[in-house]
Amino acid sequence: MDLRDHEVLVIGVKRSGQSAIELLLKQGARVRAMDEKEPDPADRAFLESRHVTIAKQTIDQLGNPELIVVSPAVPSGTPLLTEARVRGIPVIGEVELASSYLKGPVIGITGSNGKTTTTALTGHILHECGVDCQVGGNIGTAVTSLVESSSEHRWNVLELSSFQLETIYRFRAQIGACLNVTPDHLDRHHTFEAYMRAKARLFETQQTGDSAILNFDAESCRSLAGRTKAEVFWFSSSQKPPSGVWLDGSDILLNGKQFMRRSQIRLRGMHNVENAMAAGLMAYLAGAPLTGIGEAVSTFPGVEHRLEFVRTLNGVEYYNDSKATNVDASLKAIEAFPGHLWIILGGKDKGSDYRPLREPLHRKAKAALLIGKAAEKIESELNGAVPLAACGTMAEAVGHARARAESGDVVLLAPACASFDQFKNFEHRGKVFKQLVAELI
Ligand code: ADP
Repeated sequence: MDLRDHEVLVIGVKRSGQSAIELLLKQGARVRAMDEKEPDPADRAFLESRHVTIAKQTIDQLGNPELIVVSPAVPSGTPLLTEARVRGIPVIGEVELASSYLKGPVIGITGSNGKTTTTALTGHILHECGVDCQVGGNIGTAVTSLVESSSEHRWNVLELSSFQLETIYRFRAQIGACLNVTPDHLDRHHTFEAYMRAKARLFETQQTGDSAILNFDAESCRSLAGRTKAEVFWFSSSQKPPSGVWLDGSDILLNGKQFMRRSQIRLRGMHNVENAMAAGLMAYLAGAPLTGIGEAVSTFPGVEHRLEFVRTLNGVEYYNDSKATNVDASLKAIEAFPGHLWIILGGKDKGSDYRPLREPLHRKAKAALLIGKAAEKIESELNGAVPLAACGTMAEAVGHARARAESGDVVLLAPACASFDQFKNFEHRGKVFKQLVAELI
């Protein structure tokens, strides 16, 4: 894409927007920016140093740019973008922009849950097996920031959210994976179909000879097989799929051959077995030797805030799964333990149905400790299934559990909600939890 002297409007000037601006300026584009919020001093300094003007995000200020690069945080149905499309202005995301300049093959990983873990694990396996790669996307480094360090034989391992996939057209992943699709972000995508459509983009842009890695146990993932030209490889933790990787007792097999041992996966829970199968398969297809993959998986320490072990105090174990921001992730966390749980639930509701938690909590939890704004809704949907304690704050919930949990119990933060009512983000929530637990005596 030749952008020299073209006028490009960047909407959203946080991390990925700034990275897009850097790339656009390098390509010689004339760049201006918009944001619905007043930029903070650091963002303003960034823009000023690059001579990029910023306007308020309104239709009046739209003008007639030749291209719009939009942040994944801006919903595609925003009136401004609708107007842009009416005016015939192409609207792309940062990932699509990067794809025109990124060298080397791409592994793209999406799903409702497990993206970060699987992306980090895939990068780890490739690294341990001596296959050159760089890791980025939703996990941290914007894809446009990877352009400079990309090279022809270096794999780009990218975590891709549905918001990033909504705006891809020519971006292509030689290896694409969808781990699962469960209702999440319906506050933004409105319908499950729209959410699926965004995820499907990853596979629709693949070509013959590419590989699609899909979860055989998830009906929603199976349906993606018909939407790609790529060869489909399955993974399954419960049955033998037509081709691919599956769990067979204590072994994991690839097309019937030994691939890894289940005991080599140090992370807790069947969902992490699924993540490891998908990551191992992707690494294998990217050139990692069959014999090195299990060993590489066994040295992966996990990612902070994902079922992270915090400490044991008087025989009570504390786990931080602050990244469990939806009901499915909390269900997986609950299933990862045999029982005796004190689970902390609540935060900002995303329009979720909490009733699927009733049965597993009835089986496995001693109590659910409720915090944040969603507490009342959760209370009404879980009432009668499990003892409930309205704690309000994280400090109160940790104190409540500390006072009552007995040796052999587990205190688990897996809140099934977003964090923004009481915390800056899920990382902040996890850190506050860990700090409170560290201070317990
Ligand atoms: P994402 O990047 O998709 O949000 P993470 O790896 O950050 O995924 O994990 C998010 C949450 O989902 C964590 O609570 C984690 O324990 C849980 N999780 C991880 N992998 C899976 C999976 N395959 N299925 C369901 N839940 C998962």
